[in-house]
Amino acid sequence: MSSALRYNTFEEITEIHARLSKAFRSGKTRPLAYRRQQLLQLARMIQENLPAIEEALLADLGKPKFETSVTDAGPLVGNALYAVEHLEEWAKPEKPKVDAWRSSWDTTIYYTPKGVVLIISPWNYPWVLTFNPMIGAIAAGCVVVLKPSELVPTCSQLMAELVPKYLDPDAYAIVNGGPAETTHILDLKWDHIFFTGGTKIGRIIAAAAGRSLTPVTLELGGKSPVVIDDGFDDLELAARRTLHGKVQNSGQLCVSPDYVLAPWDKVDALAEAFKKAYGEFFPDAEPLGANSDWGKIVNPNHHARLRGILERSKGEIVIGGQNDGDRRIAPTILKNVSADDSLLEEEIFGPILPIISVDSFDEAIQFISSRPSPLVIYAFTKSEEAKQKLLEQTDSGSLTLNDTFSQLIVHEAPFGGKGDSGCKSMATPALLTTVTDLACSDGGYNGKYTFDTFSYQRMYNNIPSEAEPFMAMRYRPYSGEAYKT
Ligand code: NAD
Repeated sequence: MSSALRYNTFEEITEIHARLSKAFRSGKTRPLAYRRQQLLQLARMIQENLPAIEEALLADLGKPKFETSVTDAGPLVGNALYAVEHLEEWAKPEKPKVDAWRSSWDTTIYYTPKGVVLIISPWNYPWVLTFNPMIGAIAAGCVVVLKPSELVPTCSQLMAELVPKYLDPDAYAIVNGGPAETTHILDLKWDHIFFTGGTKIGRIIAAAAGRSLTPVTLELGGKSPVVIDDGFDDLELAARRTLHGKVQNSGQLCVSPDYVLAPWDKVDALAEAFKKAYGEFFPDAEPLGANSDWGKIVNPNHHARLRGILERSKGEIVIGGQNDGDRRIAPTILKNVSADDSLLEEEIFGPILPIISVDSFDEAIQFISSRPSPLVIYAFTKSEEAKQKLLEQTDSGSLTLNDTFSQLIVHEAPFGGKGDSGCKSMATPALLTTVTDLACSDGGYNGKYTFDTFSYQRMYNNIPSEAEPFMAMRYRPYSGEAYKT
């Protein structure tokens, strides 16, 4: 299965925007019953089309079908149902505690939909990163235009076919295209732009949003480091947990460990521990070749980019290094990599992991803090002092000790970036979840944060005429007498 992606024309895009704007003004997306029904339809869309979604992800990313249920379809259905269940509670007007003298004012915060919103998503988790934000936007009562990535044509074409079949076409639409179409989209008037992608395009989106003063959420990338503390001895655990994070989606994950900083005297032992973990994860043979279920790099350009930075690297290969003509690159680990190596230039976003030797934990902190703020910092340490140094001397979207990647299943706290890795104005709910989590999906996905992203908190007051004797003291002429009592 592989299909050509039909790009929308500029005229179609303008027409879609006008149609959705009209639907929003009509108020049809505001009733909670309507929102619930659309969320249930979204869940049905994913559930009923699982085989087609699996085929599409296999065609675009070589993704094993089992992973699609676990990392894409399952979380989406769970998140949509969670939103249905919690919608009433999220949307409930709030009565803040006010000073006693204003208690008769009926001060209330109403959660009102922001309006016509745009969601632009990347190719690496096309379904999750398109529809998870959409769940929050539907729940908030917005109308939504989705712009998925042109680099996963089979997935984006399937989305274009499914969305109008399941969701109200007056209020929700997919627009497909590349940079030219997206530039046209960004010239239209939006009430919120939600962008997930690379930092470079994030700057273009932020500039466009700035021109029209449109609120924007940026979920970006960056180089997320793994630090091995001087005193951390369980290198097999560190290697296993780091490699597990690295091999997800063949390293094409925003929170993929990008490089490891390890003390000189631990590097060889760490390399051996990686070899052991690799042997356990891939017991049969090389993960290349026709029958492999090892995922592919998204397209020949990215495959060539990764081969290029690997060829230019002066590091010593510990594991892997091979690639095939079918867009695969074997999980590859290198040691003796210097700070000016090709692998340290940009976010790797592929299955390559360099180890950089440092003199001390303090040098590792210095290394990280002198670079742009990453999406996440991972550190293997048992030391409270090390934790404090990381909290106080570095910046990142999040900080995870003694594991990689598992912060994505913590649904109760917001996920996001800082600085070059994004604006943390919402949480990406359950990007990846485990079968166990699905089984108990009653526990909170962080859907409320997404709902809040697409809601405007509108302040309401009603100052009663009975308050006039008290209010009268503010009127001219000022005598000052009234304030003396
Ligand atoms: P990208 O920035 O190249 O593309 C993202 C989207 O922007 C796509 O829909 C694309 O069509 C659009 N786009 C491309 N060029 C454009 C232009 N000139 N003007 C306007 N829009 C344009 O990102 P990608 O390569 O699809 O995804 C990989 C990046 O996304 C990595 O950096 C990764 O770390 C990041 N990412 C971040 C998160 C997160 O939650 N923070 C999640 C997944 C991926």
